[in-house]
Amino acid sequence: METTRHATGSPAHEDPAAAPGALATHAVHAGREDLAALGLHAAPLDLSTTYPSHDSRAEAARLDDFAATGAQLEGPPVYARLDNPTVARFERALARLEGTGAAVAFASGMAALTAVLLARGAGGLRHVVGVRPLYGCSDHLLGSGLLGTEVTWTNAAGIAGAVRPDTGLVMVETPANPTLAEVDLAAVARACGEVPLLVDNTFATPVLQRPAAHGARLVLHSATKYLGGHGDVLGGVVACDEDFARELRRVRFATGGVLHPLAGYLLLRGLSTLPVRMRAQSATAAELARRLAADPRVERVHYPRLGGAMVSFEVSGDPHEVIAGVRLITPAVSLGSVDTLIQHPGSISHRIVHEEDRRTGGISERLLRMSVGLEDVEDLWRDLDAALGTLSARRREQRQPQRQAAR
Ligand SMILES: *Cc1c(COP(=O)(O)O)cnc(C)c1O
Repeated sequence: METTRHATGSPAHEDPAAAPGALATHAVHAGREDLAALGLHAAPLDLSTTYPSHDSRAEAARLDDFAATGAQLEGPPVYARLDNPTVARFERALARLEGTGAAVAFASGMAALTAVLLARGAGGLRHVVGVRPLYGCSDHLLGSGLLGTEVTWTNAAGIAGAVRPDTGLVMVETPANPTLAEVDLAAVARACGEVPLLVDNTFATPVLQRPAAHGARLVLHSATKYLGGHGDVLGGVVACDEDFARELRRVRFATGGVLHPLAGYLLLRGLSTLPVRMRAQSATAAELARRLAADPRVERVHYPRLGGAMVSFEVSGDPHEVIAGVRLITPAVSLGSVDTLIQHPGSISHRIVHEEDRRTGGISERLLRMSVGLEDVEDLWRDLDAALGTLSARRREQRQPQRQAAR
């Protein structure tokens, strides 16, 4: 019945360039600058894996240039692992929305994080400072050392003390998956000093928060979530300055974690409705958070100070009963779609994180994470209310024999 509003974040929309009007306009026009010259209205989908060229001397020079600099190729593409015009439109649009000089897209959010870690590790900077909680698989990728990284876990206040001479990256998520904990991005960026700060902005999206304006050098998205927005495309992207983008393009070329052009097409289309979806879904989420916080069957509600369409809550009984009880809401992992999803982080999204690390990260076994969609708020509440009702009725039934046994 207590609503936790993690009270340290920066107010939404404080960056004037992120004013709602400007953002909504960029969302539908950015990345499409070349269409008029092509005589097109809708962005085309280029599925070519290769491109003809009779001038192999010129191609040799262009490839040398890419190998040396990582700069986006000028002129026609060469090969789809290097460059694709459909994907490039999505990258330009996302960079515009995040207010960065560039963006580099990948096959998934995890492929994007992998590229960042490989780019830093290649320079000998293998140490990462991580602030928990992070998305379960990000936590696993850092902690397992799979890519040769060594991680020091800390909280926002401990960042400056954890940075070492070989620290290549500081990583935070805000609002964090799944507790929706927030950090003060400007303070965190100051604590990083010269070390690049990576902010996973998947939950807030550039509609609610633009981390680059607060000093983050790298902004990561699982584009699978709100950017795509319809649960039908897997992708990842890093928004950053052009220098870092060049390193990421070289890693992407060498390791092959490219975004498929059809995914790039769907993501560009998804961006055009992102501001509208985020506002509508956030309004419904705020109302559901309010009702859950007033409900005696719910012990605690986590809803970010920043707003957003994610609500997490701890129930007074068995959370698995709520998952079993929903009918309209889909019990499934992932988030950010037009329809509402609910899942139990301890069993699914954060299962790969050790139980003790889940506990210290604030991920209670009673916690449920809900991604609120575009359905009618009353229909959603009716479904939640019924699922919670099942829970308390069963608890009463179960309590009876337990008490008798104790006597
Ligand atoms: C889903 C998710 C990821 C991983 O993205 P994939 O597209 O599934 O690889 C990373 N960070 C956050 C916050 C996520 O929710």
